[in-house]
Amino acid sequence: MKYCKECNNYFEDDSLTVCPYCKDRQLPLYDVEKTEEKEMSPQKRTTVRILSAIALIILACLFIWGVDWLLGLLKGLF
Ligand SMILES: [Zn+2]
Repeated sequence: MKYCKECNNYFEDDSLTVCPYCKDRQLPLYDVEKTEEKEMSPQKRTTVRILSAIALIILACLFIWGVDWLLGLLKGLF
C-alpha cells in the first residue's frame, strides 16, 4: 500500500514509485503499514458497529420525538 501526501490517495499497487494522479510533478509515494488496518479489526470494528447502531437508534428516537412535537405544535395552532 502506497500513499500520496499531495492528493491524499492510497494505492494498492506497491510497485508504484510516483503518484499516478500527480505524475507530472513526480511526487514520491510513501509506504503505508498494512498492520495499521489489521489492528483496527475485529474488536474495534465491532465497537464502531455497536456505536453506530446506538447512534442510529438515538437518531430514530429524536426523529420520532421531533415529529411528535411538530404534530402537537400544529394541533395547537389549528
Ligand atoms: Zn498524488
